[in-house]
Amino acid sequence: KVPRSPQYETGARIFGIETEYGVSMTGGERHGDARQVASTMFMPVVAQARSTNTYLCNGARLYLDVGAHPEYATAETRDPLDALVQDLAGESVIRRLALQAQQRIRSTVGDDAIIHVFKNNVDSAGHAFGCHENYLVRRYVPLPVIERELLPFLITRQLFSGAGRITDHGFELSQRADYLDEAVSSATTRARPMVNTRDEPHADPEEFRRLHVIIGDSNRSQFATFMKLATTHLVLGAIESSVRAGRASGFQACALADPSIANRAISRDITGTALVQLAQDRGDEGMAWHPQGVASALDIQQHYLDIVRQAMAADSHAVAASLPRTDVVRVMDDWQELLDRLRANDVDALADKLDWAAKYRLFSALRGRGQRIDAWRAQQLDMDYHDIVNGSVYPALVRRGMMRVLASEQDVERAVGQPPADTRAAMRGRFIREAQRHGARFSCDWTRLTLTEPVHGEVVMLDPFDAGPSEAFDDMLAQLEDAAGQTQ
Ligand code: ATP
Ligand code: MG
Ligand code: MG
Repeated sequence: KVPRSPQYETGARIFGIETEYGVSMTGGERHGDARQVASTMFMPVVAQARSTNTYLCNGARLYLDVGAHPEYATAETRDPLDALVQDLAGESVIRRLALQAQQRIRSTVGDDAIIHVFKNNVDSAGHAFGCHENYLVRRYVPLPVIERELLPFLITRQLFSGAGRITDHGFELSQRADYLDEAVSSATTRARPMVNTRDEPHADPEEFRRLHVIIGDSNRSQFATFMKLATTHLVLGAIESSVRAGRASGFQACALADPSIANRAISRDITGTALVQLAQDRGDEGMAWHPQGVASALDIQQHYLDIVRQAMAADSHAVAASLPRTDVVRVMDDWQELLDRLRANDVDALADKLDWAAKYRLFSALRGRGQRIDAWRAQQLDMDYHDIVNGSVYPALVRRGMMRVLASEQDVERAVGQPPADTRAAMRGRFIREAQRHGARFSCDWTRLTLTEPVHGEVVMLDPFDAGPSEAFDDMLAQLEDAAGQTQ
């Protein structure tokens, strides 16, 4: 029987962000092959961990699968703000690896070699890669309910979470709308790419599942990263409490007739007002809400926000307590303000908060200066915006106060070396630090810490809310300490 921490019974959540990066090299005598760049980046990782797949002493997972997309999966966090900081720590880790690799590569191919690492979702050859959000959800909510009630929200939240992109259709909100037919349609037919195809809760499977959201863009905007997690959390909370109370959430009213068509149509309309077809079977509430059977992305977002506000009003203490560091009232107010600005067509007012709006402003400025934006220039600007190593556009926006920043550089640097203190990642981080200090052999996964040399030991951490240290954990570290002392 797994001991249950108090958070089991509340609206508390666990968040994690997986970010895949695209790499490339320009300059140098010859253009580097992306795989080669990625494997050069991972040389120090392999030297330390003897693998391209490892956990770090801040509790995160860093890995390189076959191919050329390094991935950083943040440690488990209890708050969207912490998840943001952990994700930025990931940028910092990846940036450092890239700069080291750049040094090394320059010594062979020439001093003008430049490594680019893109935090985006589509490479220049048109291959898409991902940013996955992970949310712990209570298992009493049936999976089809989560999918049905969440999908219209996920599709319409691109109004603020979209990273923006110029395509053959003009300017689009989302990077991935054209690549996600499969994910979106399967979510409704239950083949389930919207959530993980495998049921891997990385937690007590009787109590929880891990919702694995794959239909989001990677964000450079800190505000966008934060808001997409915070609002998704609030929607999930409203779904959980309605299921617990045995009543309808009201989200069913937003069910879409064809999620894939809606997803693309919404991506291509930065006004948020294009109408999409709602499903036939929206129940009575759906008919009352939009009798004509069509609604805009803005209407749908507003409906979600209204229901979230009602859920807050019904149990404000519990909703407020669900996040340890974030003020949920502020999130709702910011959410409303975003929708209001969009409704007023005030893209400028959003340009310091949202990636797509920031890019839209950049493209407009180019046009304003009389430079015709040819496709090539637009693409250069777009790629530069996402380049976390040698990009100049995004840092310049931040320097000039034109991009809102939520996390301090000190917080981010601290998070490179330290795990979140209020989840099991705290134990993982400490274990790795100690094991490395003693030159021990060890391995980890999200729920397990394994020591193989100089002593054997294993600790299972099925409760992600339990930051420990447990007795078993202290024992294992004491044994490591003893054994390491003897061999010295
Ligand atoms: P893949 O890369 O093949 O998609 P994956 O989705 O299983 O694999 P990882 O890349 O290992 O996963 O990342 C898992 C993410 O889930 C991490 O960010 C981690 O913090 C988060 N996570 C771990 N346990 C939980 C949990 N119980 N609930 C929610 N998130 C979790
Ligand atoms: Mg992953
Ligand atoms: Mg994943």
